[in-house]
Amino acid sequence: MTRPDQTPVIGCHASVWTGSFDAEGLEVAFRGTAEAGFDLIELPIFDPAGWDIATTRDLAREYGLAVSASLGLTDEVNISAEDPEQVRRGEDHLGAVLQILHELGSTHLCGVIYGPMKKHMRPASALEVTNGQAALGRLAERAAQLGIRMGLEVVNRYETNILNTAAQAMEYVGAIGADNLGVHLDTYHMNIEEPDLFTPVLAAAQRLEYVHIGESHRGYLGTGSVDFDSFFRALHHTGYDGPIVFESFSSAVVDPQLTATLGIWRNLWRDSADLGRHANTYIRTALRSNQTIELH
Ligand code: MN
Repeated sequence: MTRPDQTPVIGCHASVWTGSFDAEGLEVAFRGTAEAGFDLIELPIFDPAGWDIATTRDLAREYGLAVSASLGLTDEVNISAEDPEQVRRGEDHLGAVLQILHELGSTHLCGVIYGPMKKHMRPASALEVTNGQAALGRLAERAAQLGIRMGLEVVNRYETNILNTAAQAMEYVGAIGADNLGVHLDTYHMNIEEPDLFTPVLAAAQRLEYVHIGESHRGYLGTGSVDFDSFFRALHHTGYDGPIVFESFSSAVVDPQLTATLGIWRNLWRDSADLGRHANTYIRTALRSNQTIELH
């Protein structure tokens, strides 16, 4: 996913700007994302039934932003359940999100769309895993008809018991075998679970669909312990050309569902505009520096 001038698409998660996604919140998020210099806005579509598609479409056009969506499943809508009824509800839920993306002309769905995003108290069972893979195979087929690519976000052990590393995700998506279904890596989670920030990108390179850029405490980029030098070097080395999206959370901006699930209890920042501008510059500078490295 590149812009007409072949530079990568750099995005921003809407929760940098607002926690409420009514028309007013959407306006704040689109304006902030555009004014900070990003190309794309990632919308947390946890509630597809209540999403204001018309307003979203108008704002995307007004501000010239591409749109993607992410979400985490819950026990209520869980394609990785043992109970077929829960699986069906999960599949309907994700199907509704795909339909919204289609109506918005969006090409990317990502996040923890393979299971409930929460702290689990036991490992996933074999049946849960195979049920989830079967449902994702069906959903990927539907997504392919709509021209949508899907990335499964690899997250830390406190948010899923299914995909904690790039290697696990590669095995998982390999077993499904859909061309438009791959891996979504996030530096915040990699910093917790992976041995380093370089080799997992190599491991996932053939199926890498989406990238989140987050700091170790989810605040300003460059103020935590994530090894961004290695990560951006690896993106360049593998020729990754998908979306690169900044993700940051602070209790200054509260989304009732996300805040509790992700454990956002501290104010890491208060000024969304300053944070967003800083992140946009930080990411583009890192990519620009790496572009000067000749690989062959
Ligand atoms: Mn993420």
